[in-house]
Amino acid sequence: MKLERILPFAKILLEKAVSPGDIVIDATVGNGHDTVFLADLVGENGKVFGFDIQEAALESCMEKLVKRGLEKRAALFKTGHQNTKAWIPPEFHGRISGAIFNLGYLPGGDKSIVTIPDTTIAAVEQIFNMLSPQGVIVIVIYHGHPEGSAEKDILLQYAETLPQDKAHVLRYQFINQKNSPPFIVAIEKR
Ligand code: SAM
Repeated sequence: MKLERILPFAKILLEKAVSPGDIVIDATVGNGHDTVFLADLVGENGKVFGFDIQEAALESCMEKLVKRGLEKRAALFKTGHQNTKAWIPPEFHGRISGAIFNLGYLPGGDKSIVTIPDTTIAAVEQIFNMLSPQGVIVIVIYHGHPEGSAEKDILLQYAETLPQDKAHVLRYQFINQKNSPPFIVAIEKR
């Protein structure tokens, strides 16, 4: 298999954008796999700001960080990602090199708590404004559940109309797979 699968490709995009010492965002912490991945990428002088609305998610993530001795590299907030701008100190605005969204519900958690289009787009807009030039937002879109399908449509409509002189927008998707597999939209600030 030479074509990268979706989740590995999301990581490759982040690896290309993020260097040691950088400031990054995990906009949907969930069980913390991406937060841990980002904490490794930014190294001991960098910082990951993580957001989730569920306490269970933040606890699960913190447990993983502590197990690996990475907890000092992350600041986790129990609030919606639509509030990122308010929680990230102003000195870091314009310095965010990478951000990830894994949309949908918490695996193993309450499937009725899902990301929703309005707040997702509000968060993407805020984070885009806080990106450094060449900073990247990676969005993994899960659209197998009913709310996810609507979120996919609205998000694509938004991403496809971002001005070309401000952003490069990529869609990475396997188009012959059954059961609505996830795909990636990545937005790079110019
Ligand atoms: N990246 C995670 C991981 O590595 O395990 C998986 C994330 S999971 C698919 C989606 C998460 O988004 C859930 O934990 C859910 O609570 C969270 N979520 C839903 N709405 C949110 C919002 N407005 N702001 C931040 N997180 C939200």
